[in-house]
Amino acid sequence: MGLTEDLDILLSRELEAIKAAGRYRFLRTIETAQSPRVVLDGREVVLMCSNNYLGLADHPRLRRAAKEAIDRYGTGAVASRLVSGTMTLHEELEAALARFKGTQAALVFNCGYMANVGIISSLLGPEDVVFSDELNHASIIDGCRLSQARVVVFPHKDMNALEALLKREKGRRRMIVVDGVFSMDGDIAPLPDMVELAEDYGALLMVDEAHGTGVLGERGAGTVEHFGLTDRVPIQMGTLGKALGGFGAYVAGSDVLREYLINRARSFIFTTALPPADMAMALEAVRMVWEEPQRRRRLHQNVVYLVDGLKSLGFQVTNQGTAIIPVIIGPEDKTMDMSTKLLEYGVFVAGIRPPTVPPGTSRLRVTVMATHAQEDLDEALEAFERAGKEVGVI
Ligand SMILES: *Cc1c(COP(=O)(O)O)cnc(C)c1O
Repeated sequence: MGLTEDLDILLSRELEAIKAAGRYRFLRTIETAQSPRVVLDGREVVLMCSNNYLGLADHPRLRRAAKEAIDRYGTGAVASRLVSGTMTLHEELEAALARFKGTQAALVFNCGYMANVGIISSLLGPEDVVFSDELNHASIIDGCRLSQARVVVFPHKDMNALEALLKREKGRRRMIVVDGVFSMDGDIAPLPDMVELAEDYGALLMVDEAHGTGVLGERGAGTVEHFGLTDRVPIQMGTLGKALGGFGAYVAGSDVLREYLINRARSFIFTTALPPADMAMALEAVRMVWEEPQRRRRLHQNVVYLVDGLKSLGFQVTNQGTAIIPVIIGPEDKTMDMSTKLLEYGVFVAGIRPPTVPPGTSRLRVTVMATHAQEDLDEALEAFERAGKEVGVI
């Protein structure tokens, strides 16, 4: 037998164990653009699990911006940013992001995962301490690990616990890092209290705006803007691949932070720059988020409508005004049964279970788009009622 067969045997055993534990994952393919209704495995369904909150990923203006960028600048940046990969559009987007976020500067990373890993690991080292909310995104967790700093995990949004830990855990440099909007619960970090603590105890503060960008704040700049804390949060990271409808990520902060990351963040330095089309889409998206607050209002109206509907059906729903609506089911098997039945009735909602969320809190992570029509939401509510009764959760 060859090496390939040996490897396959080894991996198949592990896959069997994953299946036996009921944790097997597989891919589903969407055959259309990421619109409110998509074709999934040959059937039209209402899409309620994407992060295309404002409906920009299939918008004609973004499509046009990308095409024009390709015509003018070609397809690839074909080098890292520090060699010859920095093009006019990278600079333009970074300037626009800084204006949008109200910071001195911004720097584009290739994706949010790489941004978190690069920012945290370049700012902290083995003598440092990082304070991380227990529900932070996996990319933050991996950034903390890679930094080799001591990781102090605090209970979700528990500011008393955080304060006690800040009193106790000393280091050369200390940083608090948190999701502005938590990706699986859709709740908002208590940033005003966190800023106070960071200032009182001399810690750095970093906020991940992956789900806040485009959704929260007067002009859609995110959680930090929502709380009016732009001048007091030194490191704001966010993505271009969720509400902004494209791909990539950014960090917004001071000129010095930008300069430092260009020199130190390995996930910025050792990778090919994003293509010009991605920069052009993001530029157009930032303009649209800023200039068209009605998209955000429409999103929030849709969220309220769906939350009210789900609650009156008897589902356990929480929402804090973000686009993420967790419907807690509890047991993993019932969650997956719900997801399967919903799909059968024409609604695509992802079931989320351990290890992504704690055991016993398996849920349907429902996300709403500004472009969902009322009939899409009504169809979803009907499907939830049928599926919920059949699975026995309402
Ligand atoms: C999606 C997400 C990321 C990763 O961003 P990508 O651009 O998809 O790599 C980071 N943080 C949070 C909170 C996210 O939800």
